[in-house]
Amino acid sequence: MTRLRVDVDFDALERCISDAIVTLTPEGRVSAWSAAAADVTGIARADALERTLDELFAHVDPPLGFAVVPSVLRCWTNDERRRTLHATVLSVDGGWLLSFGAQQRFDAIDRLKREIVSSVSHELKTPIASIKAFATTLRENPENTAAQRAEYLATIEHEADRLTVAVEQLLSAARVEPEHLLARRERVRLAALIDRALARVPAHALARIERRVEEIEVNVDPELLAEAIANLVDNALKYSAEDSTVELAAATDAGTIEIRIRDHGIGIAAEHLPYIFERFYRSERSLSASTSGYGLGLFVAREIARAHGGTLEVASAPHAGSTFTIRLPERR
Ligand code: ADP
Repeated sequence: MTRLRVDVDFDALERCISDAIVTLTPEGRVSAWSAAAADVTGIARADALERTLDELFAHVDPPLGFAVVPSVLRCWTNDERRRTLHATVLSVDGGWLLSFGAQQRFDAIDRLKREIVSSVSHELKTPIASIKAFATTLRENPENTAAQRAEYLATIEHEADRLTVAVEQLLSAARVEPEHLLARRERVRLAALIDRALARVPAHALARIERRVEEIEVNVDPELLAEAIANLVDNALKYSAEDSTVELAAATDAGTIEIRIRDHGIGIAAEHLPYIFERFYRSERSLSASTSGYGLGLFVAREIARAHGGTLEVASAPHAGSTFTIRLPERR
């Protein structure tokens, strides 16, 4: 184990760590309480200084003096919300350093869940309403011509397909929560993993893909990485002309694995670029175009790259096509 001796004042520490941090004296009294700690706990610095955790929280488990360090303490807030906060505890200078950093991540997951639930209900309502309306029309108008009936049924089928895509994307967005990520890593041939990603591409579109994949092995969650690649390939095909090619290249360079997906399609305007990786973001062009999607593909792909310690970047300009690049550190 590497032991670090750190000699910094609390203000400097607070500036370089955005986590909510707190220090306690050997007697267990609060000696420093960062602004982020005040945000997370809802307890102002002035109210916290000099107090013990037992005075500040309804309950602390395990009690500070019994905590084996490093470990995680659970603190129940004294306010009416009775939240459970998680703090990592380390011993420092005979006293303790607590970080409520994990709490911010738990809160972020909660927020993400709430956002997903509210967007799901919104996204699912439209196709469901349309299926219902067309089914009712069909039932109530037996005198409709065969052509009209066929048209209504085609609409119902189309809306049902949209629902399937929505549900699949929402499920994968839910799966990228940190607790589910990277439960497993496997050593696999990148070429085999790319085959898996391309298995989702309809046969007629497969001919548009030009592959240049080096023979390399990667240590990844194969299912998730294949999903990230599939999302990018899907977009490349979707946002370009049906007779244009999509290049998929994978290679290693100085310890970095690079997977590049390039299309010659509509491209992305500079004003949209900062937002395309956000959940549920779709540019107006794709909203008005007939492409289906819920603005989750890129969000999911980037979360997957990040979970592997990597990045997903884009270079694009309108009418000049787009290049999406996943970069992952090579792990032995
Ligand atoms: P969607 O389901 O809308 O495709 P994504 O998260 O995959 O959602 O992409 C978000 C938005 O980014 C898309 O709506 C589209 O405007 C833009 N986009 C993504 N990939 C491309 C691409 N290869 N070419 C042009 N625009 C793209």
